Amino acid sequence: MAPEQRLPELAAATKYVLLDFDGPVCDLFGVLAPDVIAASLLDELEVIVGGPVDEELADIDDPLDLLDGVSEIYPELTGRVDASVRDAEVDAAALAPVTPGAVEFLQACAASGRPVAIVSNNGAEAVRALLELHGLSDLVQHVEGRNPDPRLMKPDPTPLLQAMRALGADPASTTMIGDSSSDILAARAAAVEAIALLTLAPDHSEQPWVGDMDTLAELFGAQSLP
Ligand SMILES: [Mg+2]
Repeated sequence: MAPEQRLPELAAATKYVLLDFDGPVCDLFGVLAPDVIAASLLDELEVIVGGPVDEELADIDDPLDLLDGVSEIYPELTGRVDASVRDAEVDAAALAPVTPGAVEFLQACAASGRPVAIVSNNGAEAVRALLELHGLSDLVQHVEGRNPDPRLMKPDPTPLLQAMRALGADPASTTMIGDSSSDILAARAAAVEAIALLTLAPDHSEQPWVGDMDTLAELFGAQSLP
C-alpha cells in the first residue's frame, strides 16, 4: 500500500498523539534566528573558558548542535550551556509564528478525544511559553521537553517513552508526528507509528507523510474513534 493510502487508517488507529514542537507547532527560530543564538552562546562560552573555544565548536550555527558539542568537549559546562539555550528558546518562543493548521490539528485531537503530548528537543519552558501565549495549553495534556542530558534527545526514544507513560498511552495506538529524521528514528526505537511532516515527497520511502498540518487536522478531525 502506498504510504499516503495508509494515512486514514493510521489516523483511525491513533488514540494518543506525540507531537514534535519546532516545525509542527511553530517555527521556533523563524524570527530569532538559530545562528544568532549560537553566536551569542559561543561568545558566552569563550568568556567561561577564558579564551577561544575548541575549533570543533567554532563554526556550529545551531543551538542544539552546539549543546551536543559542548556535552562532548566541555562536559562540565553542559548544564550551564543548557540553561542558556533554554533561556534563548523562551525568547524565541515569544516571537515564533505558529504553524498554519497547528491550532486546527490540536482542536481536532481534542474534539476526537485524543490526548496530545508535545515531545521536543527544545526546553519544556519554551514549549509551555508558546502554548500559553497562544491560548493552546488546554489542548495539550503533557509536555516532554529536553532532558538536561543531551544524549537523551531524540532520536533516543526516552522522551517518547516518558511522554507515553505520562499519558498512560499504549504504544500500539500511539503515533509520533514530526518533521525531522530524529522524530521518525525515535518513533521506530519506541515502537510507535510515525507520520512525517515534509515539504517534499520522500524518495522510495514507505514512511507515511503529509505536506502540511491542515491535512493532518482534516485526517484527525474526520476520523472518530470506535
Ligand atoms: Mg522539528
